[in-house]
Amino acid sequence: MYSVHTIQQLLLAARYAGSDVTLTQGGGGNVSVKSSDGKIMFIKASGYTLNEVSPEGGFVETDRYAAVSALRDLDRSDKSRSAIQDEFSTLLGKAAITDQLRPSIEAGFHAILPGVVIHTHPVYINAFLCMKDGVNLLKTICDCNHPVVDYYPPGYELALMVDKEYGKLNTKSGGIYLLNHGFVSWAETAEDAARLMDNVETSAKIYLGELKPKGHEPSIKTDEITSMIRNTGFTGSLHVSSEGFVTEAAFDNDLAAAVLNPLVPDDAVYNYGRIFTTDGKTLPDLPEKFILIVKNQGIIIGAPTGRTIKNMEETLTAHIMVRRLINGRGVPVELPQEEIDFITGMESEKFRSALK
Ligand SMILES: [Zn+2]
Repeated sequence: MYSVHTIQQLLLAARYAGSDVTLTQGGGGNVSVKSSDGKIMFIKASGYTLNEVSPEGGFVETDRYAAVSALRDLDRSDKSRSAIQDEFSTLLGKAAITDQLRPSIEAGFHAILPGVVIHTHPVYINAFLCMKDGVNLLKTICDCNHPVVDYYPPGYELALMVDKEYGKLNTKSGGIYLLNHGFVSWAETAEDAARLMDNVETSAKIYLGELKPKGHEPSIKTDEITSMIRNTGFTGSLHVSSEGFVTEAAFDNDLAAAVLNPLVPDDAVYNYGRIFTTDGKTLPDLPEKFILIVKNQGIIIGAPTGRTIKNMEETLTAHIMVRRLINGRGVPVELPQEEIDFITGMESEKFRSALK
């Protein structure tokens, strides 16, 4: 059984985490709340955005201890990384009490942490988490000496490391930095978990200064490019981006080259291998989902649905913001190729990138 209060807490957490593209982008980030006896976890469903969490849906009622057991009791012997991940994902799916929907791939660490849990991919914090020695710098600028988990892929491996760090803390509220990924906070109430996260993000933002787009005006020859793309047989949706940060990639060759290399898992999930550049005269071979940088003109995004386009655009916005925030301050740390390959091959991430 759960109370109205529990669901209200889930909605509050989702509203906070989904409030701004600088906190979460696309289907990324997630929130969860435990029932008062701790046995049930309500968590954002995989394939839904935080803004789609409502009293009617977008979340999954999950057997919390089944999710914890999926993590701690999984028999890893003689299994490959991806086999372990797939098995964990299947077990998490079985922990769901509500049928049809599936808990977020990050449900493992949500189940471990107590109370209300908020996990975001905040750009001002991520500028430090994707920069060489950045997290040590971050800890000196605010009262935010939280533990750090090195980069591990979302799912089994990351949850296991969060379990290890939380085991040392065992506190009712706290935060953990996830390198090349984001931040997670927990507390007894949604307000306190949000406050904890906001304290770090605001300190990071004050230190780095609020980033503004450089103000390039897109001058993309929409009709021309669109008909060229349609002539290749592309039947999906097309969107000319007017997002200021995204547009910058058309006017900065170094940035256009840099964004090919993922900094965080969602860069790999949504955009890896899908970003192309053209001079506007000839087209590269385009897959069914693509971001086309038209040099000195602008950006056009194509995908089967407008929803996927939005996820790709928001993920690229965050990526460009993080790159710009690091620029001149430090050295960006990109995801290693084997980690990119691992993520793009993950069955559960494929599920998420194919958002319903
Ligand atoms: Zn995440």
